[in-house]
This record gives sequence, C-alpha cells and structure tokens, in this order.
Amino acid sequence: MLWYWLFAIVLFMLFQSVTDFMTTSPLAYSEFKQLLHGGKVNEVTVGETSVSGTLKAGGLDAILPRERAESVKCNADGLCPFNTVRVTDPDLVKDLDAAHVRYVGQQHSEWMSMLVSWALPLLLLFWMWGGLARRGGVAAGLFDVGKSRARVYMQSKTGVSFNDVAGIDEARDELMEIVEFLKNPQRYRRLGGRIPKGVLIVGPPGTGKTLLARAVAGEAGVPFFSISGSEFVEMFVGVGAARVRDLFVQAQKVAPCIIFIDELDALGRARGVTGVVGGYNEQEQTLNQLLVEMDGFDTNKGVIILGATNRPEILDPALLRPGRFDRHIALDRPDLKGRQKILQVHARQVSLAPDVDLAAVAAKTPGLAGADLANLINEAALLAARRGKERVERSDLDEAVDRVIAGMEKRSRLINPMEKETVAFHEAGHAVTAEFRALADRVAKVSIIPRGIAALGYTQQLPTEDRYLLKKSELLDRLDVFLGGRVAEEIVFGDLSTGAQNDLQMATELARHMVAHYGMSERLGLATFEQPPSAPYVASGQSTAYSERTARLIDAEIARLLDEAHQRVRTTLREQRALLDALARQLLDHETVERDALQALVRAYAAGASEPGAKMPQSAAAQAGR
Ligand code: ADP
Ligand code: MG
Ligand code: ZN
Repeated sequence: MLWYWLFAIVLFMLFQSVTDFMTTSPLAYSEFKQLLHGGKVNEVTVGETSVSGTLKAGGLDAILPRERAESVKCNADGLCPFNTVRVTDPDLVKDLDAAHVRYVGQQHSEWMSMLVSWALPLLLLFWMWGGLARRGGVAAGLFDVGKSRARVYMQSKTGVSFNDVAGIDEARDELMEIVEFLKNPQRYRRLGGRIPKGVLIVGPPGTGKTLLARAVAGEAGVPFFSISGSEFVEMFVGVGAARVRDLFVQAQKVAPCIIFIDELDALGRARGVTGVVGGYNEQEQTLNQLLVEMDGFDTNKGVIILGATNRPEILDPALLRPGRFDRHIALDRPDLKGRQKILQVHARQVSLAPDVDLAAVAAKTPGLAGADLANLINEAALLAARRGKERVERSDLDEAVDRVIAGMEKRSRLINPMEKETVAFHEAGHAVTAEFRALADRVAKVSIIPRGIAALGYTQQLPTEDRYLLKKSELLDRLDVFLGGRVAEEIVFGDLSTGAQNDLQMATELARHMVAHYGMSERLGLATFEQPPSAPYVASGQSTAYSERTARLIDAEIARLLDEAHQRVRTTLREQRALLDALARQLLDHETVERDALQALVRAYAAGASEPGAKMPQSAAAQAGR
C-alpha cells in the first residue's frame, strides 16, 4: 500500500509541474530584462535556477517583437504568468528595486527534486523488477535467495496413496507405521518410546522411492515439504545452509508434517571426499546445517524427515547415526509377484483386451524396476493406439517388452544376406546350447531383428524363477550358453566374426568371478581375490592384493574354464548340427522364432535326446556319434 501512495504522490506532483509549465509563457532572459526596464513586470519569484512571475497585460508589443509578444498568454485579471531560465546576473536585485517590483526568493525545494531525480527512477526499477520476478524471469532467483523453495504438497495434491504402490510391501508397512504416528502420536509416546526422526529410503533408481514418499504424504494428510538435494546445492555461497534453516523453520511452524529430501546423496556426500574444489566448502556448510537442524528439533512435535537415495554408500556417516536418519528402508527390484502387481497397478489406466496375461509379461521381465514396468505399459498403450486398436492386446505388450528390454526394433537397418546368415547361426548356437543344458534358463524367443545400437540379434532366455543363489553347475551351463554363438559360427563357417565380442566379454567376466570371487577353482582354493576399487592415483604396483604368481594362476584358471566350456559346446553343437541348421533356416525365413516353434524343431531334429531340454547323458552323446 505504501508503494501505491508514494507512486500516486509522485504522479500528482509530476502532473502539477507539467501544468505549471504549460500555463506559463517561457521568455528569454533578455526579454525579461527588457520588460523589467519597460515597467511591464508585476511580480517576480526568484528561484535558484529560474525566475518566474507575472507581467502586466497590454502594450507588450511595444517592447518585444510582435510574434514574441503574442506568444505570451494572459489571464482574465490582466496578468500574464511567465518563466525564464536564470543566468548569472549580479544586477538583478538592483534592477528589480529600481523598477519597484515586488519580489520574493524561492526556497529551493529539496525533496521535490530529490524525488524526481532518484526516488522516481528507483521506484520504476523496482516496479519492473517485481514484474520480472512474478513472471519467473532471471531476476526471480535473486529475490528469494535463501528462501527455501520447498514445495508444500498437501494430501489432495499428491494424489498418490498406498494403493498406487505395489510389490514393495515390507517397505510400505514400515512407512505406514510412520503415518500412524503422525495421525496418533499419543499412542506411541505413552510408553516413553522415541519416535524415529529420520527415515532413509534406499534403493536402485526407479524402484519407487519418490513414489513411496509421496504416498506417505497422501496418506498422512499432513503438510509435506518436498525438496531435492540438488536444489540445496546452489551457486551462491551460504545459500544452501540458509535454505536448510529456512526449511526447518517453516516445517516447525506447521507441525505435524513431513520433510522429504529426495536425492539426498547430492547434499549428504561424505565430507572431505568431494573432488570439486569450488563446491566443497559450500556443500559442507549445507550438510553441517542439516545435521545441526536434525539434532535441534524435537520429534515429539511431529516433524519427520524422509530421505531417499540410490547411493547410500557415499553418504556421510554422521547422517546415518542414531538420532538422524536412523531407520533405513531398503527397496529392491521387484520379484515375479511384485512385478505382476506393479503391472496391474499401471494397467488400471489402460483398457486391456481379455487375452492379455500380465503374469506372463511379469515372467518375461526379470530385473526391471517399477519405473521400467510403468514405461512398458505406456509403450504398449502407445503402440496399440498407433495401430488404431480399441484395446491393448497381447501382441502390443509383447512388442513393448522387446522394446523396453532390447531397445527399438530397427527393421530399416539393412544387413546384407551374408551377415544375416552369420547372425542366424550365431543366435541359433546360443539357443541350441541353452536347450541342451539342463540348468540353463529356457529360451523364450530367438530373433535376428537388429535392435538398439549394436545388437544384431538376440536370444531371450527366461529364468523359471527368481534366483538369489547360483550353483557352480549352473554357472558352467551359463558359460556354455555365452559361448554357443561363437562356436556355431566356428563350426558352420569355419571362420570367426566380430559379432561375439560382447558374449566373450560376459563369459570372461563370469569365469573371472567364479575363480576369483566365488572360490570355485580347486587350484586356487577358497580364497577370494577381489580387485581393489580402481584408484588412479595409487601406484600400479600396489593395486593388487595378491602376488604375481597368484595373478598368473588366476589367469590360467580363467583360461581353463573357458577352454573346457569351448570343448563342451563344440561337442554339443556338432551333435546337434541338424537342429542348428533347421533353427537357423527358420530364423532366416521368419526372423523370429518363439518358444513353441523352437520346441517343435527340437522334437523333430534333436539327435539322441529323448527329452528336449534334458542334459544329454554321456552315453547318449556317444551314441549320437556325429
Ligand atoms: P525412484 O526410486 O527413482 O525415486 P520413482 O519413485 O520416481 O523412482 O518411480 C518412478 C515411477 O515408476 C513412479 O512414478 C511409478 O509410476 C513407477 N513405480 C516405481 N515403483 C513402483 C511400485 N512399486 N509400484 C507402482 N509403481 C511404481
Ligand atoms: Mg526419485
Ligand atoms: Zn551372441
């Protein structure tokens, strides 16, 4: 309001001075002097820079040239207001006295000129600045420096409830307890228990950490301050710490409430290890402020801090000790059941055809996180829409799975027939090997449609169940499947291609793990030989925790494992050459072979195996004799 008044006053005065100026006639100083000597001046106000007053009307043209005299405007009472710019004239007063004119001096109006010369421009500047800030321009950031930009979500705004979170039931239950506390604090305090201050949600990206926190806010029905760690880390020094302080002040005013700090690792990185020289101090200050604030408030007021991170290992230990983020909730990628439930949650938003089986989709997507599954359903809906369908059908979902898992199909990428044949035999090699290894995952689909950036084809294997422990025999079978593609090329073409690079890399990696980490080599025994994390500044001589001799032994054992696998696969594929050829031919014809078709081929062409998918007994292999 004050601003409005000031503005109005200034406007008024501006207006007045302009009208003043308009109604008085400007004269040259010489003209004024002539009129003064001619006795035509009635009254004079002598200002610091100007002389103004009134003239007597009539007979002015006797003194001034005609057009000048006519330019003088006169009032009804016979007086003509005038003004003139004052020049240095020491005789002015003497002349005024001589002409017997009444004259007054004018006190210089300080505040008026002050107002006009700087208050006004300043006012204008502020006004424009304010306009910019409201529109969120560059100046916006300058205005609320230090004001926390935490957004307050109320229950109605998050619109997320625990019903939208699926497949992570333990985490959900634990957070429900927090919600209970916020709704009914007395019950928990009755026995003198201390409510946890901070709860840290830990898990890989896309597993629903942010979603879960938003669901807590939605369920608890209390104010929810949400800010991301990177928002704290600002360019201006000292601002991050000010933000933290401000956030806690705000929160305590509206308690009970929840403060949610997403991506906590951006802010809570362990002190003293950040490599950035400039950001170092600033970030440390912000973190210190957070620690201070977390100590300083009393949970019984009902402020609970939720944090989320996917890199708990880099957090400062001080953040994790009791009294701060002392409760940890771990999220993991969902298992088969979890995936199915998450798919169901997201499928509520699309209309599915009756032939869709979400359990089957869940079975095809091991390792995908919630975000990937949400994306998968969305992709399927977009595909169905593009094809003008009324509902999302099974084929759309199948294609969406392929897209999400293996990248986009690139039908447009032309491969020459020779390459296509190589790829067909390569993939057939993987598939056939997998079919004749009892412990390998079943092959769901073989395809030679190029996908993604590098893959020319792929063999999709489905684990029959989620696995947490793997036996040595299973790992050996897996090794065989990795090599299957390469060995098929070797047998069929007698030549090698570059296409197996990724397979060989995975096989080598697996063999190294078996030897050096899992203690699966008799010659090395039970010791594990972890590679220390690569540190560029450690001299290379110190980088291994074992001797030269052991290193050579490890290499030899890896080579042995790979070599033995190579022999085994060669035997299998030589025996199953008919099947290999048939599958490759079918791939060249149809590009994709599904499980059913593959099983039919196995039944028709497999040599010596009475039961497809069973490991061939040694004697049967010998009988096959090819
Ligand atoms: P992050 O763990 O990286 O914070 P988000 O919470 O942002 O992951 O998850 C991204 C999206 O993935 C969510 O908006 C939601 O659509 C989906 N999502 C992830 N996990 C789940 C889950 N358990 N149940 C349902 N949807 C989920
Ligand atoms: Mg997140
Ligand atoms: Zn391969």
